[in-house]
Amino acid sequence: MAKILIVEDNALNIKLFCDLLAAHGHQPEAVTDSRNALETARQFLPDLVITDIQLPHVSGLELIRLIRADDRLSQVPIMAVTAYSAVGDEERIRGAGAQAYVSKPISVVKFAQTVEQLLPTKAPVEASGAGTGPEQPPEPELT
Ligand code: MN
Repeated sequence: MAKILIVEDNALNIKLFCDLLAAHGHQPEAVTDSRNALETARQFLPDLVITDIQLPHVSGLELIRLIRADDRLSQVPIMAVTAYSAVGDEERIRGAGAQAYVSKPISVVKFAQTVEQLLPTKAPVEASGAGTGPEQPPEPELT
């Protein structure tokens, strides 16, 4: 279970994201007004922040920069969600400090996969039945 902060002004998306995250065993917390997002994040100390980019008041990009500049939040992974992907958007979003970027309308599978990729790795779950497989050969080094 991970604590996940959602910053999103659209009520339907909040419901969708919260339902999806809860179904995956996470604890979502939603903020509708981005002016409250940084303060809520400071108190909630999430394991992951999911933020819309098109937000009134404080934009998603501004919020990402504020989180990155905050002593206690600077290391929290951030996943951006955006409805409009113009050329250069992904670079701007990643440049502001987000690790991942998902376009709306979101694919439920992509959303869930991206969330799991960004969460800190959990302690290994006890193997069910079969022993651990053979060790994977190391990836060839790319030069
Ligand atoms: Mn929005």
